[in-house]
Amino acid sequence: MKQTNLFTKTIKELPKDEQSYNAQVLIRAGFIDKVAAGVYSFLPLGLRVLNNIRRIITEEMEAVGGQEISLTALAPKDLWVRTGRLETIDIIFRLAGSDQKEYVLNPTHEEEVSPLIKKFVTSYKDLPFSVFQIQTKFRNEKRAKAGLIRGREFLMKDLYSFHANQEDLDKYYDNVLEAYHKFYRRVGLGEKTYLTLADGGSFSKYSHEFQTFTEAGEDIVYCCDACRLGINREIIANQKTCPNCGNADLIERKAVEVGNIFKLGTKFSEPFNLSYRDAQGNENLVLMGCYGIGLSRVLGAIVEVCHDEQGIIWPAEIAPFKVHLLSLNQDEEAEKIYQSLRALGCEVLFDNRDKGAGEKFAEADLIGCPWRVLVSAKTLAAGGVELKARSEKDVKIVTPEDLIKYLK
Ligand code: ATP
Ligand code: MG
Repeated sequence: MKQTNLFTKTIKELPKDEQSYNAQVLIRAGFIDKVAAGVYSFLPLGLRVLNNIRRIITEEMEAVGGQEISLTALAPKDLWVRTGRLETIDIIFRLAGSDQKEYVLNPTHEEEVSPLIKKFVTSYKDLPFSVFQIQTKFRNEKRAKAGLIRGREFLMKDLYSFHANQEDLDKYYDNVLEAYHKFYRRVGLGEKTYLTLADGGSFSKYSHEFQTFTEAGEDIVYCCDACRLGINREIIANQKTCPNCGNADLIERKAVEVGNIFKLGTKFSEPFNLSYRDAQGNENLVLMGCYGIGLSRVLGAIVEVCHDEQGIIWPAEIAPFKVHLLSLNQDEEAEKIYQSLRALGCEVLFDNRDKGAGEKFAEADLIGCPWRVLVSAKTLAAGGVELKARSEKDVKIVTPEDLIKYLK
């Protein structure tokens, strides 16, 4: 994409009430726009990153057999009365319909997916299976001060699995846990994200969170660096050693919960009477698992983890563009390179604007594409173009042919 065609520009004036680093830098660089506390629009650059995250999570969920669906944002209140959660969850947005009925903007979808699945499951032969969606959730969060990390409107991937017995649920749960590890590695958070033990509710000893370490986090996790396991302080405060290896040297870190997996058991199949007939003809409740990842929160967490004083440093697989091509009055040469990179399928942001070197460099650092390619009279005289990785200081001159080979 040519930067002269990009309608957004970098912004100097920030919203006064924005305190979080991730939202500040994303607004400045033109990735998102703030509409209200915890409510952000995604602009072309931001949406490209979000869509990359979406593509990766979709691949990983399909790899564990998840079938993609899209449930509604709006739900009749009755579904939430049925499970009692209308009273116990205090962040639900409620609104009145013109039919005098009350509605809820779904903060999560167990209440909607359970009665849906009931329409299709009768026998043990219909099980197991899983469904997932990537959809907007609404939560009337009290502290919406962490930018994308705590939205009042945010994008979540939620997977729900349905099983005839505990053994089958346990096996599938472990598969999803591995898929989550893969996902965090692919989006560049693998190093700083630990599987973390959290409260299991009434159906199992633990649930599992995936916690990414950053000062921007609101959770405190005791970390065993020997086996890369975390223990969430909120729930298991008395645990002083690693339950996996006995390590007593646990390190306390601030962290963001970027995912959560949970064995629900019959918690939701019971109120909705979601049952199946077994081989002996007896009716049993279906066992469920639920597995969430906040995509917009993951994006915010990546920004918190991957940046320097100049701006964002996007991990390659989710970057808005792989290459930021900067031309300093050498548009003809740069255009040729732009076309050959595009012919390779390489995603390039081409800064063909009539601006000075300082401004172009600063904006390239702020936007954070993994590779910067500079075409100037100086680089051409030195025999080619200048290549620089956003994460490194060194630059090198390469011929346009070698550049193509290199980026391939
Ligand atoms: P938290 O403890 O941070 O409030 P939660 O435990 O309520 O989150 P879940 O209901 O398990 O979160 O939601 C699944 C996932 O959705 C979380 O792991 C997180 O990645 C994401 N998420 C939850 N709340 C928000 C929010 N307000 N904004 C952005 N992402 C969120
Ligand atoms: Mg939580």
